[in-house]
Amino acid sequence: MSENRSEISQLGEFGLIDRISRNVTLHNKTSVKGIGDDAAVIDIGDDFILISTDMLVEGPHFDLAYVPLQHLGYKCVAVNVSDIAAMNGKAEQITVSIAITNRFSVEAIDALYQGIKTACENYQVDLVGGDTTSSGSGLVISITVLGRVKKNKVVYRTGAKPNDIICVTGDLGAAFIGLQVLEREKQVFLTNPDMQPNLENFEYMVGRQLKPEARADIIFDLEEAGIIPTSMIDVSDGLASELLHLSRNSGVGVRVFEDKIPIDQLAFETAVEFKLDPITCALNGGEDYELLFTISQADHEKIKNHPDIHFIGYVHELKDQNVMISKQGTIVPLSAQGWNHFRS
Ligand code: ADP
Ligand code: MG
Repeated sequence: MSENRSEISQLGEFGLIDRISRNVTLHNKTSVKGIGDDAAVIDIGDDFILISTDMLVEGPHFDLAYVPLQHLGYKCVAVNVSDIAAMNGKAEQITVSIAITNRFSVEAIDALYQGIKTACENYQVDLVGGDTTSSGSGLVISITVLGRVKKNKVVYRTGAKPNDIICVTGDLGAAFIGLQVLEREKQVFLTNPDMQPNLENFEYMVGRQLKPEARADIIFDLEEAGIIPTSMIDVSDGLASELLHLSRNSGVGVRVFEDKIPIDQLAFETAVEFKLDPITCALNGGEDYELLFTISQADHEKIKNHPDIHFIGYVHELKDQNVMISKQGTIVPLSAQGWNHFRS
C-alpha cells in the first residue's frame, strides 16, 4: 500500500460523491442540472428530459437467498422511476444493463425480466436498450431511466423556503423492518434447512422491502391539485438523511414532529418485537421510496385531505438546526446514518 492511500470508508458514499462532483464542469447549455439531485435535467426545447441511474449489486443491495429474481427486477425499475418522480416528472424509457455469472440459468434471467417487464407495464415505461456482460462474482443490475417534465414544473432539492410545510407520503421504516424479518428467517433456515420461513403477519413489511412502488401516483395527484412542491426528494436512505439533503441544498432548516411521522401499526409492533426503535427505523431505515417534499402554506388547503400525504413539520431559516421534536417534547438533532456500504 502506498503512503498516500486514503480509505473510502472515511469519506462515505456522500463524501465520495461530493469529491467526484467537485471539479466537474458542464460544457453544454442544455445541461441544466448535473450531479446533485435525484435526476439530471436536460433542456430539449419544449420540455426538460430527466436522467437518472441506479445500480443494484448482489451482496450490498440484495441477497438472492430471499430475494426472488422477479421481485428484484421489479424493484430495480421502481427505484429508478422513483427518482424521476422526485423531480416531479414522468418516467418514459429505461435501459437495463446486467452483469451475470454462469451461476444463473436462462430461466433465472427470464424471471428477472418478467419483473422488469411487469414494472414497465405498471409505470408505462418502455424498455429501450441495455447491455449484457459477465461478472466476476454475483449479479449486478444497472438501470438508466429517462423521464420528462414541463419546464415550469421541475422540482429540485433546492427550493424549500422558511415556513413551507414538510410533507411525506405513505409510511416509513417498514422496508427496513421487512429486511430484518427476512434476515431472521434466513438465519433460522441456515441453522435448520427443514424449517419453512414464517412470514405470516409480516407480509406488508416484507412486501415493502421486496417489491417497493414508486409514488408516480402522487405526482399525478399533485398535478390534479394544482400544486408544484417547492422542493422534493425520494426517501431511499431514510427520512433523516433526506431531510438533511433538503436542508443543505435549500439552505434552510427543518423541524419535524415525531408524532406526525407515519409508521404502519404492524411495522411499529414488529420493530418493538425485534428490539428496534420504530422511529429510528423510520428516520434511518431507508428503501421506503416514498416522496418527501415541501409546499408553501398557501397550498396546504389543496391537499390537506389527501389520505396518503402526511404533514410532518416546517421549514425555518436556520440551516444548522435540523431537529425532531419527540413525543415527550424534547428536541432531537437529526443525523443521517443512512446506508454506508463502505463501512468496514
Ligand atoms: P439517489 O439516492 O437519488 O439515487 P445518489 O445519492 O445515488 O442519488 O446520487 C446523488 C447524486 O450524485 C446524483 O446526482 C447522482 O447522479 C450523482 N452521482 C452518484 N454517483 C456518481 C458518480 N460515480 N459519478 C458522478 N455522479 C454520481
Ligand atoms: Mg433519489
